Amino acid sequence: MESKNDNFKITKKLIENINTIDNPTIGYLMAADARYIIKNHGEQGLKLVEERFKKLGYNFQYYTIEDEKYYPMSIRILSLLIGRELFKWTDDDFRKMGEEACRISMLLKILIRFFVLPSTALSKAPEFWRKHNKKGTLSIKDYNYTNGRLVGCLDDYHSHPVVCRFLEGYFTNFMKFAMHVKKVKVKEIKCNHKTGHHEFLVTWTF
Ligand SMILES: [Zn+2]
Repeated sequence: MESKNDNFKITKKLIENINTIDNPTIGYLMAADARYIIKNHGEQGLKLVEERFKKLGYNFQYYTIEDEKYYPMSIRILSLLIGRELFKWTDDDFRKMGEEACRISMLLKILIRFFVLPSTALSKAPEFWRKHNKKGTLSIKDYNYTNGRLVGCLDDYHSHPVVCRFLEGYFTNFMKFAMHVKKVKVKEIKCNHKTGHHEFLVTWTF
């Protein structure tokens, strides 16, 4: 699913809408945004984003972020949309950010190492999600390892399409790790921020 441009413009209405979202986001994802900005646009780029935040009425600075603390989803969405506005980021940039942000916890790494079957590793995905997110329930349907296909359902997750592009990248790296395969494609096939229901088609080749 490609994102429509009009959804991605920072308007008063958008800010009103995203301010009502009750879905705290974990700090390490915000910190990953900062790393991506610095890597691609330098410290100066990060300053530009913070200045834009200020103009919108947010006193927000990336260096104050703590990895394990939670922040409002509106800040996270704005962080991505401001980047798009300033640096002309495309959907692929958000996917790349997601891939780079996917950090598998040490504990999970150790656990997964002992699983011979990818399906067992995969069964840890909902647990992994709960560990890093206060909202949203992840479940898996239509799983077929040999055919290289499954659908990941995310329910009760209210956010913004820009975050779904990010998640496509995030899930891509998670799946590479969990399935022990190199080529993975993740594409969102259903997206409804009103109901909070999303479906991601995951395909892989050996
Ligand atoms: Zn979505």
